[in-house]
Amino acid sequence: MVGVLALQGDFSAHRQALAERGLVSCEVRKPQHLEGLTGLVLPGGESTTMLKLLDAFGLQQPLVEAITAGLPVLATCAGIILLAEEVRHPSQPSLGLLRVAVERNAYGRQLASTVAQLQVTDELPTPSLEGVFIRAPRVVRVGEGVKVLATRGEDPVLVRQGAILAATFHPELSPASPVVALFADMVRRKS
Ligand code: GLN
Repeated sequence: MVGVLALQGDFSAHRQALAERGLVSCEVRKPQHLEGLTGLVLPGGESTTMLKLLDAFGLQQPLVEAITAGLPVLATCAGIILLAEEVRHPSQPSLGLLRVAVERNAYGRQLASTVAQLQVTDELPTPSLEGVFIRAPRVVRVGEGVKVLATRGEDPVLVRQGAILAATFHPELSPASPVVALFADMVRRKS
């Protein structure tokens, strides 16, 4: 069972994308919803609001513990902002579990949101990949042990650190995304 953090944001689109890959999911709103999960999705949305809700629902520490214990995670857009060890422009606290620095809203405002063709590295078993960017963050620093799986121009947009797969775009909004497929693979290997 894959849990999808469902405090705010596009969690329904993630559940749909997981179902298309044959993965059963549930919505995570309380610490007890994390029990027995085989994977976890941190969706896009508004990271500042999500942080406040994580705090209000007492989810912050249980999430950190579950992810630190090696639960496979797919984090997208606001999700990568939640996990980053450093968040800039404006800076805000984060869970600090992914060794990257991100700059919020770095590609401009809503009007500058776009679908871009990405460059993939050998780590991703697909020749082409598109990325749906919605008020996306930019990864401005990649730390040790973080592999870059795809770039948009010079910018890393899909990274992996152990069991954490994180994108600055929205793979759940692209039909049959190889990123969701890779996550499904990570979940199946682990369970
Ligand atoms: N701009 C949002 C933030 O800073 C992220 C946007 C998204 O998740 N699509 O939290």
